[in-house]
Amino acid sequence: MSDSDELKVLDPATEEVLATVPAATAEDVDAAVVRAVRAQHGWAALAPADRARLLRRFADTVDAHLEELARLEVSEAGHTLGNARWEAGNARDLLEYAAGGIERLLGKQIPVPGGWNITFQEPLGVVGVIAPWNFPMPIAAWGSFPALAAGNAVVLKPAETTPLTALRLSELALAAGLPEHLFQVLPGHGHITGRALVDHPDVAKIVFTGSTRTGREIMERCARLVKPVTLELGGKSPNIVFADADLRTALDPFSFLDNSGQDCCARTRILVQEAALDEARDFLADALAAVVVGDPADEKTQMGPLISAAQRERVRSYVPDGAPALRGSAPDGPGFWFPPTVLVGERHDSPAAREEIFGPVAVLLPFTDERDAIRLANDTPYGLAGSVWTRDLGRALRVSGGVRAGNLSVNSHSSVRYWTPFGGYKQSGLGRELGPDALTAFTETKNVFISTEGPAQ
Ligand code: NAD
Repeated sequence: MSDSDELKVLDPATEEVLATVPAATAEDVDAAVVRAVRAQHGWAALAPADRARLLRRFADTVDAHLEELARLEVSEAGHTLGNARWEAGNARDLLEYAAGGIERLLGKQIPVPGGWNITFQEPLGVVGVIAPWNFPMPIAAWGSFPALAAGNAVVLKPAETTPLTALRLSELALAAGLPEHLFQVLPGHGHITGRALVDHPDVAKIVFTGSTRTGREIMERCARLVKPVTLELGGKSPNIVFADADLRTALDPFSFLDNSGQDCCARTRILVQEAALDEARDFLADALAAVVVGDPADEKTQMGPLISAAQRERVRSYVPDGAPALRGSAPDGPGFWFPPTVLVGERHDSPAAREEIFGPVAVLLPFTDERDAIRLANDTPYGLAGSVWTRDLGRALRVSGGVRAGNLSVNSHSSVRYWTPFGGYKQSGLGRELGPDALTAFTETKNVFISTEGPAQ
């Protein structure tokens, strides 16, 4: 654990230093929160339509810088260009969507005896957002933009390795006319900057995305202040493929290779019904061999590097030399490369089949029938996402009902849409982001009773 006062940002495809960025101290966090408290008062006092207009301008400004933001994501996170463009577009679209929610952040009128009763959704104040390195731009946006829309100020701490897109977003917010200090980005170390945000009494809520281990620590520290948290943590998601499914689509290797597998929703447990197992193995062998791994800035590249040398070592530890596996290829030389891999000799309770690897590595496991598929799918402490592939609609619905995870897809591998809720069961998290209730998660509900009793006659 380092506490240097600078963060060195590397290009994971070349290992070259892209930038050095100052790391915020606990005192910097204090000063930022004081500024944020002031900015929030002015922001919450604006008419809802004016806040919405400013967020739409922010969306337009992001749109005008889409290619620049995407290229920044490619260089600091190693994402392929196509993915990075989608990610910048996702930040823009979420701003538009959140802006549309401001004038629809409705309370309730509840029938009561003796008067009228109204509820109000009031902003929390200052929200702290702590983001990981795997999707630096979208995850910063998911925590921050609905919070801003609900009338809060945001202090965002990006991951040590990927602060650049978040810093650029905060500059674009200012350029779009958002009030100064409303959306501040403080790069820094988790155990210093992150912890100072978590412990700060004037930070009303923490939104954290990252590992389950860190999430647990943050929840414990928040408990001391009875501070609410949203946690988006790890995953080990199943891809449940019945023998009647269209195997070519169901076994799309990008269901676990997208973003080099550094995706909490990656379908890394490929559960295939026994009758289709041989065909699945043959198909995957060909599919992995065809994946184009290389320079993420090249339009033809399908998979880039891992984020760091440390992450590559972690991934490698799950794939011993000689382990029975299907393998693609990866470049030699500088850069944190790892080939697409499917382990074929694992038991369902082995570490590779149970732990989150966070790299381009999946396990192939057989199941017998519907009941067995649900049992295996649920045999994990995680519950974030999953896919079910079958042409039998009844079975698809039964299996979706049986799997304990927050984001399931039937005959699809998609997990994330900014207009539907996202989050995990079990140790994959707490609370939901995105979707129609995203703004409400950044409010307190105030109940006001108004007596209609007149003076005694
Ligand atoms: P991490 O938990 O190490 O770090 C995440 C963030 O927390 C970073 O900004 C880090 O600086 C900060 N942090 C670290 N220690 C802290 C502390 N003590 N107090 C406050 N902040 C602290 O995770 P990571 O390695 O950056 O990300 C990879 C992990 O994130 C994977 O396990 C992955 O599954 C998970 N993840 C989950 C989701 C989701 O939506 N469920 C999304 C992305 C990543």
